[in-house]
Amino acid sequence: MGTPTGSDSGCTHGVPWYVQALGSTLLAGMNQSEGSLTEVLADGIKAVASMHDFACDLSHPGSPSATVVMLRRTASAVDWLVLADSVLVLDVIGAAEPMVICDDREAQVGERYRKAMDALAADTVEHVAAHRAYVETLRDHRNRDGGFWVAAVDPLAADQALTGTVPAESVRAAALLSDGASRLVDRFELITWRQALDLFDESGPDELIRRVREAEARDLDGARWPRGKTFDDATAIYWTFS
Ligand SMILES: [Zn+2]
Repeated sequence: MGTPTGSDSGCTHGVPWYVQALGSTLLAGMNQSEGSLTEVLADGIKAVASMHDFACDLSHPGSPSATVVMLRRTASAVDWLVLADSVLVLDVIGAAEPMVICDDREAQVGERYRKAMDALAADTVEHVAAHRAYVETLRDHRNRDGGFWVAAVDPLAADQALTGTVPAESVRAAALLSDGASRLVDRFELITWRQALDLFDESGPDELIRRVREAEARDLDGARWPRGKTFDDATAIYWTFS
């Protein structure tokens, strides 16, 4: 989750550094460890926490954090893990609808506080201030029971991730999306998950991102789809299994 301009994080490294460090650590962990994805994630969070400098205040509520979505295919199974606001879509052979896994705890907490921000036109000074206040308010609920969980400093967050396993031969394809990419379906409701998978098959993830940007550009003031960021970071990975 980004740190809005003007907000303090207690860390000299920042979110891009954290995401890069955690991502590479988790990839290595998935290749080297026979453990569960929960264990790989807990070890990864611990390892990256030790990479901060003495100058970083790891107890700061705004220390860099990240959502996590992991997928591991072994000879017999596909293991998955989702923490915070990423979305995993599994196209299961024989099922009419894809299996969609999302951890909506942050959205549920956010629902309580976003009214003031959503009432303001995006890209105004007032909206920027309301967004900063919203993000700082949400921090008080971060990695706490009854709140929401993200990868940051506390390895116990890994236990809060949604996890599961499906037989390898039952999965045709998988899509891993940041919430900035999934918004075309789950927030803007412009297409269904089935249509999103068809789009990936025909044109790849680039086309989905293009459509997200097109929709965002048509609603610059957020009147139709109130949102914290007019244009959010959007990442989509599509994996077809042979
Ligand atoms: Zn740091």
